[in-house]
Amino acid sequence: MRVYCNCEDWKLSVPQIVSAQSLSWAHSMKYTGKPFRFCPWCAQELKVTDGPEEVKPISKEEIEKLKSIAKSLKNVYEKSYGEEGY
Ligand SMILES: [Zn+2]
Repeated sequence: MRVYCNCEDWKLSVPQIVSAQSLSWAHSMKYTGKPFRFCPWCAQELKVTDGPEEVKPISKEEIEKLKSIAKSLKNVYEKSYGEEGY
């Protein structure tokens, strides 16, 4: 099951968030907050599907950028909670 919205901002933004999230998981940082119920860009209630997820290939530059973001997130997290925090 996954949620989605049909707006252009969602289509532009969510693949980048999912990529960053995957790298965060690779660094053992898991999101434990509440799930979104409404699109953060257009405020429509999110739709639910059991269908396959669209997967777009991302460039090497994008991967390097995301690695840098993941490293920054890890540093911020460690400063906030210490290494035992996760
Ligand atoms: Zn939307």
